[in-house]
Amino acid sequence: MNWLTNFIRPKIRSLVEPKEVPDNLWQKCPKCDGMLFSRDLGENLNVCNHCNHHLRLTVKERLPIMFDGGKYTRMELPDVAADPLKFKDRKKYADRIREARNATGLKDALTVAKGTIGGQNAIVAAFNFSYMGGSMGAGVGEGIIMAAEEAVRTKSALIIIPASGGARMQEGMLSLIQMPRTIIAVEMVKEARLPYIVILVDPTTGGVSASFAMVGDIHIAEPGATIGFAGRRVIEETVREKLPDDFQTAEYLREKGMVDLVVARKDQHETLSRILNILMNKNAQSGNGKKSGGGNPRANGKAGSMVSAPAGKGERAIKAQQQVRAARVTLKKLRLPAKKKKTKQSRA
Ligand SMILES: [Zn+2]
Repeated sequence: MNWLTNFIRPKIRSLVEPKEVPDNLWQKCPKCDGMLFSRDLGENLNVCNHCNHHLRLTVKERLPIMFDGGKYTRMELPDVAADPLKFKDRKKYADRIREARNATGLKDALTVAKGTIGGQNAIVAAFNFSYMGGSMGAGVGEGIIMAAEEAVRTKSALIIIPASGGARMQEGMLSLIQMPRTIIAVEMVKEARLPYIVILVDPTTGGVSASFAMVGDIHIAEPGATIGFAGRRVIEETVREKLPDDFQTAEYLREKGMVDLVVARKDQHETLSRILNILMNKNAQSGNGKKSGGGNPRANGKAGSMVSAPAGKGERAIKAQQQVRAARVTLKKLRLPAKKKKTKQSRA
């Protein structure tokens, strides 16, 4: 007979013990100051129901909404030298890495996953802004190269979702060389005539926006996202001019032609599915040797370079093969030696 412990004790406890009220039950919208109930916010994909402001989303929350049925497989990031320069500012870089890993449970600022979107194979590489501001070091660069290589190998579309403050300065030059490396990586995907799509989310700045993030076949942005290279204040001081209020926002860049579509979070999966089906079915057809009929009428501008190329062994196809080969050689030269894992010293 356990009714005393099973029934009476919990009852008494619930009367005596102070109830734990989580302090994050309500949040304030950073744009309209409206109060948001956390559960409602979660159900609404972290979008304010008062003003449609898109609050930041972690990669863990984002990946399920990208793939069909929320199903995907995560890929392990390659190992790189953790602290190649033994860098120290106010804190040791090694300590910063340890703290970021403990706080986020992630290996680096990038997560790579594969699955299907609209029934088409897709590799998604998404930046974790909560991991050192989503900064791009050698680990992130290697992750993007891995994602691009996997996309080519499995004939998948490559989708990168940058949310980053830029290059990781604690790695100095080694972080900066990730800019050309990632460009070469996504170029490989394009040469294989597979779609490379960028989904620009808040914030996409610095070395990331100055490299692979701005060379997509199609650029989709989240409403209100900040996208730019240098900060607003720095530019204003340099050019000595007042910048427009919506400067460096997704909508401003769409107006100026750097962004193709501004798509709300809830519509992103559907939009991506539609785009991938148009681009990849077309690719499959031309791969089968059918005549492509002089290019896709929907293809314009950037997307056209990928879609309208004929599949025959024309001059263009040979040139593409040469470029891919050259890109691979360059990548091999630039690849960093992975640090040997330390042997376990103490064993109880
Ligand atoms: Zn709001």
